[in-house]
Amino acid sequence: MSADKYEVIIIGGGPSGLAAAYKLAQAGVEVVLVERGDYCGSKNLSGGVFYTRVLDQLIPGFWEEAPVERYITNYVTTLMDKEDYFNLDYKGQALSKPPYNAFSVLRAKFDRWLAEKAEDAGVMLVNEIKVEKVLKEGNKVTGIVAGDEEMLADVVIAADGINSFIAQEAGLRGPIKPEHLAVGAKALIELPREKIEDRFRLTGNEGTAYAMLGEASHGVAGGAFLYTNIDSLSIGVVLRLDDLVKSGAKPAEVLDDLLEHPMVAPLVKDGKMVEYGAHLTAEGGLHMVPQQLVADGFIMVGDAAGFTINSGLVIRGMDLAVGSGIAAAEAIIEAKEKNDFSAASLNSYKRRLDESFVMKDLKTYAKAPIFMENDRLYKSYSKLANDIFGKVYNHDLTPKELLLKTALKALKENNLSIFDLARDGFKGVRAL
Ligand SMILES: Cc1cc2nc3c(=O)[nH]c(=O)nc-3n(C[C@H](O)[C@H](O)[C@H](O)COP(=O)(O)OP(=O)(O)OC[C@H]3O[C@@H](n4cnc5c(N)ncnc54)[C@H](O)[C@@H]3O)c2cc1C
Repeated sequence: MSADKYEVIIIGGGPSGLAAAYKLAQAGVEVVLVERGDYCGSKNLSGGVFYTRVLDQLIPGFWEEAPVERYITNYVTTLMDKEDYFNLDYKGQALSKPPYNAFSVLRAKFDRWLAEKAEDAGVMLVNEIKVEKVLKEGNKVTGIVAGDEEMLADVVIAADGINSFIAQEAGLRGPIKPEHLAVGAKALIELPREKIEDRFRLTGNEGTAYAMLGEASHGVAGGAFLYTNIDSLSIGVVLRLDDLVKSGAKPAEVLDDLLEHPMVAPLVKDGKMVEYGAHLTAEGGLHMVPQQLVADGFIMVGDAAGFTINSGLVIRGMDLAVGSGIAAAEAIIEAKEKNDFSAASLNSYKRRLDESFVMKDLKTYAKAPIFMENDRLYKSYSKLANDIFGKVYNHDLTPKELLLKTALKALKENNLSIFDLARDGFKGVRAL
């Protein structure tokens, strides 16, 4: 049987694979993208805040045609106790002007649109085919096996997401440690546009992103999020796998409780849940990025390479996926000029990543995963903040105390010391 040969085969049609495909096709490289879903985006959990400046570099002014939801202007950080909550609310006027900083997106629509753009640029898109394995000659990756077919390529790009068994098969990635993984459970709740704008105090297409800590995750390491779309809300919990197993909590139950919390319930009231799902996400940041990102005839991008940042306040994966897809495409275009697809030649990918925001930001936030192993962040500080402010605002005719005394008492009641607070605060500002 003779196998078809292409210049580049990309496995996976998420933002990383599609960005690489688009960039390569624009440069006249022959690209096939194989996606196991019915269409790109069909297997991705809908919803998310996409920090899109990097996409604007690839497709200038993309928001004028892309199915984006709302540009995010409001960021709210919630410290949640069982019934009480404390919000830090930020609104930035600069965030409401083009080129926008971030959009909420629904992946089923957004990835599909990006796939159409890639096809228009010349990418051959093959849906509903799962890649079973890569073909190898010694250490060199020479193609893929999908269904009954073998396809050959000068370069194969693994863009198959966090579970990437392709990267494992190519010998570049071992099994991921449980502390580097989190389970995300997420719901999409339909709500009329006017209700969303009233409840979240939004004008036009402005949007809000909530990051919720403490009781939002039942004290399990992780947190929760709530994002406004045009006429729906994306809400979910992200729970670190090792702590989730230890706690015995169930993601679906944690999310159900969140939906009933006094802060969230009025925001989602009368909404209709139209989608529900769970997905793994990466938590390890720089620590889970493999030493080698290329092999002979092979490159890995996006989640497959572990490119995600979770600072507790912000989850970022889509922008790093696009940034790494672009860097991979540029490295392949250069390799093609030299007709050399060896690991040494493709390794210009690593240099391009190092020079871009992808590696720079991963390095900046390298300490975040270690800082976030601290239980007090999930079990103690949200309660402490609510206890202190509860006492400040509650005039129950018992003699009032000054803030310092109130705070010291609350620390003691929560089994915390001022040293814990100072140490964690110091570590926090150095890690986040
Ligand atoms: C609950 C949750 C919330 C998140 N929130 C945010 C957020 O707000 N902002 C943000 O930036 N990021 C967020 N992320 C992370 C973000 O979703 C990922 O970082 C991003 O999708 C990575 O893009 P990717 O292209 O590398 O992989 P993916 O988007 O996972 O795409 C991989 C693609 O490969 C396909 N595929 C897999 N295996 C095969 C195979 N064998 N053959 C063919 N096709 C295959 C899949 O069907 C899929 O389409 C979140 C993740 C989760 C789980």
